[in-house]
Amino acid sequence: MRRQPPQLSNLADFALFLDVDGTLADIAARPALAEVAPETLASLAILSSRMNGAVAIISGRKLDEVDALMGSQKFAAAGIHGAELRGADGTVTVDHALAPTVGELEAALRGGIGSADGIIVERKPVSVAVHYRENPALHDEIHELAVQLVRSRPQFKLMTGKMIVEILPARVDKGAAIWALMQSAPFAGRTPVFAGDDVTDEDGFSVVRGMSGISIKIGDGPSKAEWGFPTAACFREWLRHLSLGTTGNSTA
Ligand SMILES: [Mg+2]
Repeated sequence: MRRQPPQLSNLADFALFLDVDGTLADIAARPALAEVAPETLASLAILSSRMNGAVAIISGRKLDEVDALMGSQKFAAAGIHGAELRGADGTVTVDHALAPTVGELEAALRGGIGSADGIIVERKPVSVAVHYRENPALHDEIHELAVQLVRSRPQFKLMTGKMIVEILPARVDKGAAIWALMQSAPFAGRTPVFAGDDVTDEDGFSVVRGMSGISIKIGDGPSKAEWGFPTAACFREWLRHLSLGTTGNSTA
């Protein structure tokens, strides 16, 4: 297991990038059932204040869903792995160039496997995802269909995560999103810290390591991340201690 990350001595030197599902929230049977606990929201509020707003949410979810999970707080954020990007000043950038083709992909996925039990085909502004947590037996069939659809559309790529397959613009990934946010205030010039739990977070770990930052993987499995926690609950405990300025050694 990777070691726990070092203490961040002066929070104002760091920028925090956080995945949602499997990191800030436990993974739920269906995406709509996930929630971020009040105590985690409280930690985020304190951290955002102590870090002058240099806290961003980096998720595969749409921005409006990210916001709905964050209570009354509106953080800088990347939605749909960065296809939707909101800076700390609230400016949202969305690249809709490929949206018409996403409609074709959605229709093909719905026609192919959309009617099967426990399958959720989710259309987002510039991507389409298939959730199959409630019918994992369809893993191979879904992957085959998605691979086939992307093969003839090089402007798209396949992204696979925990019980999810997503087809999204080839240039979109969490690493690019973190890099883009790091170009402007209050992130610019700080050391990035990124925590995530899934395959789609690996691009983020690479970029953060390339910027001499702190990459944190939640859970087991191969990862480019340098540091880690065995569970999301452990990570959130670290986050709580970080917000309070305590070491958290008693729970380590
Ligand atoms: Mg995740």
